[in-house]
Amino acid sequence: MGRIYNFSAGPSMLPEEVLRQAAEEMMDYGGSGMSVMEMSHRSKVFEDILERARNILRSVMGIPDSYDVLFLQGGATLQFAMVPANLLTGSGKADYVLTGNFSVNAYKEALLFGGKEINVAGSTKDENFTRIPRQDELTLTPGADYMHICANNTVFGTKWQYIPDSGSAPLVADMSSCLLSEPVDVSKYGIIYAGAQKNVAPAGLTIAIIRKDLLADPLPGTPSMMNYAKLAGKGSLYNTPPAWQIYIAMLVFELIENKGGLEAMRERNVHKAKILYDYLDSTDFYVAPVVREDRSLMNVVFRTRDAELDAKFVSESAGAGMTNLKGHRSVGGMRASIYNAMPTAGVKHLVEFMKEFERVNG
Ligand SMILES: *Cc1c(COP(=O)(O)O)cnc(C)c1O
Repeated sequence: MGRIYNFSAGPSMLPEEVLRQAAEEMMDYGGSGMSVMEMSHRSKVFEDILERARNILRSVMGIPDSYDVLFLQGGATLQFAMVPANLLTGSGKADYVLTGNFSVNAYKEALLFGGKEINVAGSTKDENFTRIPRQDELTLTPGADYMHICANNTVFGTKWQYIPDSGSAPLVADMSSCLLSEPVDVSKYGIIYAGAQKNVAPAGLTIAIIRKDLLADPLPGTPSMMNYAKLAGKGSLYNTPPAWQIYIAMLVFELIENKGGLEAMRERNVHKAKILYDYLDSTDFYVAPVVREDRSLMNVVFRTRDAELDAKFVSESAGAGMTNLKGHRSVGGMRASIYNAMPTAGVKHLVEFMKEFERVNG
């Protein structure tokens, strides 16, 4: 077959069932005589795909009727700008919790908006982002228009294990690397957004789940393509949407629904991550820098005690049916991204390799 275990942080593995079905439907989707890539986004057949994708996501995540689901472009990175453009319209103040590079990038993007007050409500930068701040370490700005967090820190391998209390400010969460990995209480958030290429679909699609009362006039000068209310009003068809990505997302949502939903995903993901963390905890050869309570289920960061050995690990793992185990350039070491589509067998394969590498080099 030639498929290997791809531990990439994103774009990352997609479920084999989905790839096969997409291949089968490549030349002729549902009797339309064409691929989804080729069809008009105004056609009935595509509107059905869009509608079905939205409905299954709603049901799988249990999204309340008081929320809209938007299919957007520009990646999670454009959300770093769209959130302030749409929400900084009250007091003009916002709180950001800094837990890694992506939350810092979101904060920096908000700073680009002139005349606003963008505050750091908490940060673990001094500890190299190896943990998530506790609620009692957060300083909220009274009357803030929102508070922003990154729910799972893809680069540093940490995850918020609790939903922070943001007071009267809506909580905005970047869930790019954890959406659909486990159940979420959507009602606790004002906005949830995620780039699709980690756990959902190919790159080019961003999902935003927005409480409807937040769909209001954005800051003056905001482009239409960044205006949540306008995009929601057009049902994500303001302009040509990323039709192929939405179709793959629909197949992924169907698969999750058929496999028992997000509770089943969580169980699988907890089991999968435990195989790796249990091994890391049993050896002194490898170091797992993240505090145990805040470990991510999706991105497992580790290293040896020697940068040269790390490089050797990465290069030898590539010869053993695995790829993309190199840590992010800002962290070094290794990172295994084990999203929904990574089979348990892939994690076991990695652990066997790690044991052998330790035996030879330890
Ligand atoms: C990958 C990632 C991003 C950046 O996503 P793009 O789609 O490349 O803009 C932002 N936040 C998190 C948490 C990510 O994992």
